[in-house]
Amino acid sequence: MPAKRTEIAELGEFGLIERLTCQFPIRNASTVLGAGDDAAVIDAGERYLLLSSDMLLEGVNFDLVYFPLKHLGYKAVVVGINDIYAMNGTPEQLTVCIGVSAKFSVEDLEELYSGIRSACEDYRIDLVGGDTTASVNGLAISVSVAGSVDKDKIAYRSGARVNDIVCITGDLGAAYMGLHLLEREKRAFAGNDSPQPQFEGYEYLLRRQLKPTAASDTVASLRSAGIVPTSMIDLSDGLASDMLQICKNSGCGVRLYLERIPIARETHKMAEELHADPVVAALNGGDDNELLFTVPVTQQAKIAGIGGIDIIGHITPASTGTRLVTPDGSELSLTAPGFREQ
Ligand code: ADP
Ligand code: MG
Repeated sequence: MPAKRTEIAELGEFGLIERLTCQFPIRNASTVLGAGDDAAVIDAGERYLLLSSDMLLEGVNFDLVYFPLKHLGYKAVVVGINDIYAMNGTPEQLTVCIGVSAKFSVEDLEELYSGIRSACEDYRIDLVGGDTTASVNGLAISVSVAGSVDKDKIAYRSGARVNDIVCITGDLGAAYMGLHLLEREKRAFAGNDSPQPQFEGYEYLLRRQLKPTAASDTVASLRSAGIVPTSMIDLSDGLASDMLQICKNSGCGVRLYLERIPIARETHKMAEELHADPVVAALNGGDDNELLFTVPVTQQAKIAGIGGIDIIGHITPASTGTRLVTPDGSELSLTAPGFREQ
């Protein structure tokens, strides 16, 4: 009998990770939390040490036809450090591993590293090592980040409680629309030697895709307001998937109000042009690099005082499910592609 073969698609990304990691019991007392949150948590004495890794692959996560190497370096760092901010922590050190094919010159890689350097300056992080290897095809970048947090300030995905309010920073769907715009211009100019892509008026969407900012300001503002989120996650897979992660890990439900989901004017405009639904971009688009978090309802006034944060719903008991309330009052079930209750 041949060994059973299971297709990855049958499990989905989250199912696959769970299947691969479920047989690794924690063996060291210093390991507070393993796989399953935005970063691993390690007891370092006074404070918790936070560790997180992300990998970006050419042709899968970025296309060098329109992604300048410098911006790519910057974005790789932003994506990496946001996982530390999502634990309410401060990123401190970074290692970078690259796999490089012969099509890249030394100068190309210096461009990549100038972006990494720029992000290290902006967010006060030290590049402390990495690894360099040849690849057969294209570029691979893996970023690992270490950070720390006061033990009583850490925010897990699992701490949301019934009646907490659900908060979100920035606006959603713009990076996804920026990607669509870049793909459209790439298609329009395929085979053209001197392309003149039409990017005027779309600067905001391009910036959200090509030069995202990390969540350092939000974490600093919450800290100075004396707020510790009960749960937090960085928005990388889209609001729906990331909200469901909080609900699953916290054992709760949620009611989100569609008209409260922040969507930029530019995102609406681009969606109209593409005959796409801006709400779908916000719920499932991904790449937003914002924070989604919950706080006790008693903190509502403080949250309003910070600015740049929208309250989009509240946490409910698990028995009432994960619901999306439309402006006319009807309710939909909040679901996400690839997300399954385990
Ligand atoms: P994020 O989007 O925040 O970077 P992911 O969705 O990639 O997180 O991963 C979810 C969790 O699973 C994280 O805790 C991560 O460390 C862990 N994880 C992901 N891939 C692997 C893997 N191949 N082996 C072990 N743990 C993994
Ligand atoms: Mg994350």
